[in-house]
Amino acid sequence: MQDVHMQNTGHGSVIASIAPKLLAWYRREGRALPWRAPPGTLQDPYKVWLSEVMLQQTTVKTVTPRFIDFLRRWPDVNALARAELGEVLAAWAGLGYYARARNLHACARAVSESHGGRFPDTEQALRKLPGIGAYTSSAIAAIAFGRPASPVDGNIERVIARLFAIETPLPEAKPQIKSLAEKLTPATHAGDFAQGMMDLGATICTSRRPACGLCPVRQDCHGFAKGIAEQLPHKAAKATRPTRRGAAFVAIRMDGAVLLRERPPKGLLGGMLEAPSTPWLEGPQSEAAEAYAPVKGSWQKLPEIVTHTFTHFHLELSVYRATVQQRATPRAVAEPARCRWVAQRDLGNAALPTVMRKVLGSALTG
Ligand code: SF4
Repeated sequence: MQDVHMQNTGHGSVIASIAPKLLAWYRREGRALPWRAPPGTLQDPYKVWLSEVMLQQTTVKTVTPRFIDFLRRWPDVNALARAELGEVLAAWAGLGYYARARNLHACARAVSESHGGRFPDTEQALRKLPGIGAYTSSAIAAIAFGRPASPVDGNIERVIARLFAIETPLPEAKPQIKSLAEKLTPATHAGDFAQGMMDLGATICTSRRPACGLCPVRQDCHGFAKGIAEQLPHKAAKATRPTRRGAAFVAIRMDGAVLLRERPPKGLLGGMLEAPSTPWLEGPQSEAAEAYAPVKGSWQKLPEIVTHTFTHFHLELSVYRATVQQRATPRAVAEPARCRWVAQRDLGNAALPTVMRKVLGSALTG
């Protein structure tokens, strides 16, 4: 075990020396981000929570303007709790992983209704809220409440794997890395320490070509000393993603309105809007796609195939387009209760996931 190795070789003192160096570096070099409080101060848990949920699977660059918009629109958790789910999904459009937006809304309501509008201040209580897992609860507890908690995100995982030259591949190494993160976390300023580790991973200990020459903890880094830092962390081979195929139908009424359908509330892209489509299935493109056309019309298959990659599969969608009668009504196959006509000028603010923006882009400009 890594811990035993470290104690036997006197590396326990390395653990004690990392936090002070990292904290000093964070005070000097930490990134100023819109969801951050200055070093040495605690941040509003609403901002920590909102930013951490947005940053899961999404880059700082993409999140920054969206975070500012969200905060302007819903400045505190009670304001977000009062919003309609559809408004939150529309504001989330394009950020992907829409279960996060549904959980965000459910969590805001839970905090507002069951906790008097204040986030609980322990990891344990935070984890009981919708959409808050081990990582987010630790991040909020440390950054907003100063608890000695140890969030481990992808950046921190990489930094620790390198600091301790952990050669066990991920995800098997996760418990070992979490345990080392806990040992490294200082009793006070745990939030600054976590944010400093995130920043070190994002700006210096980057996946490729870490800038070890600028690193405040280089002298404590076993990966650097062994010359293997850049190869770490090792990762177990990922299963390849299957490809699913389907067809999407863009019906355009004489007045220019487009027929959209709300997806079922649970599951992939739950509650978001879509151009009505066939089921998305593995295997060759179905010959019978047109049986799913949502309204009667003269459907034209466009030459371009729209592609999109989700976490677990690639999607290839054929796109059909038809201009239809002003009085056209959806057929039973399209589940009319979930369908509505949306004016093209309103599409920009509609809760459309990226894949459906691609479909509409193809149909409305092609
Ligand atoms: Fe990362 Fe290099 Fe610093 Fe080690 S010395 S923590 S590999 S940047």
